[in-house]
Amino acid sequence: MPQDTSIYWNGSGQLPPEIIQLPPEQRQQVIEAIRAEQRPDQGDFYGPIMGAIFFSVFVVVAIYQKFKQNTLVHSAPILDAEANPSGMGLTPALLYSGNKLRFSDKVIAEILLKRFPYYSGLSTPNQEKFIQRLQKFMALKSFIIHDHNGFKEMPILISATAIQISFGLDKYLLPNFDTFNIYPGEFLRTAPFVRFLIGNVTGNTISLSWKHFLEGLKYPDDGQNVGMHEIAHALYYQTFVVEKHVDVEFRDTFIDFDSHGNKVYDLEKLGGPGLYSEYAMKDFQEFWAESVEIFFEKPIQMKVLYPSLYLAMSDLLNQNPANPFSTDGG
Ligand SMILES: [Zn+2]
Repeated sequence: MPQDTSIYWNGSGQLPPEIIQLPPEQRQQVIEAIRAEQRPDQGDFYGPIMGAIFFSVFVVVAIYQKFKQNTLVHSAPILDAEANPSGMGLTPALLYSGNKLRFSDKVIAEILLKRFPYYSGLSTPNQEKFIQRLQKFMALKSFIIHDHNGFKEMPILISATAIQISFGLDKYLLPNFDTFNIYPGEFLRTAPFVRFLIGNVTGNTISLSWKHFLEGLKYPDDGQNVGMHEIAHALYYQTFVVEKHVDVEFRDTFIDFDSHGNKVYDLEKLGGPGLYSEYAMKDFQEFWAESVEIFFEKPIQMKVLYPSLYLAMSDLLNQNPANPFSTDGG
């Protein structure tokens, strides 16, 4: 299995040796990018062909963070990490196995009510279903936090994002993905080319910038949510690349998203209404991931501008966020 050999760099205002050792041209790219404080790419998806190449050369270095922005006010620390799997003298990395976290339903509900509006909008029976699913999901995952402290919100809110997207499906555990890497801020991949990331999906791992994940929650109607974005990639990967533990209805309904989505993709690419970002026009995988973000965060706009795409998404995910009371997310 491909390994995510992430290295997290703790410094700011200086470059880690991994960057210093790069060929001059690549190094220059990095330095310019840092100077410009460019917005990192939304994320990356590695398809089955490119994946084999990318996985083998995957190195991540995370740098240049404003740590103070990354923690939640009044967030609850998780104590007693099991191990420090990749400290390497550069950075702390705390490992938490989900099956040992054992947060009570009450603790989870409190955090969701405070931070996760989707949960608040559910009926009482669906809130119970949501927490049951979240507990099962979280118990199957490991969370590696590349920072000095871990917070209960990290595994809970990340798992909640996965449960939100799959809430209308029968299969929701994404068993191919057993590890979440949580970085305080954007991280840097140095191969095959240099690029800032705020999230990505590779091998069995989903990596996220906590700072950007929180921004996704903070602005719930701007159509940008990196947590949803990466989970959408993972759901596609589980269904069409791994092809195990597949939600059959999702798989079989995807063809409708494909046909309606392709029309919208072409329209947006030609400069249509501009519901999608430029990044979504990179390829159809990015279009899919951003469609999930827009479906949940700008459902009315999607329904008005692209009614058949909205309907296809609604059938696919078995949810109706433009009119949540009609289905209650169920
Ligand atoms: Zn992406």
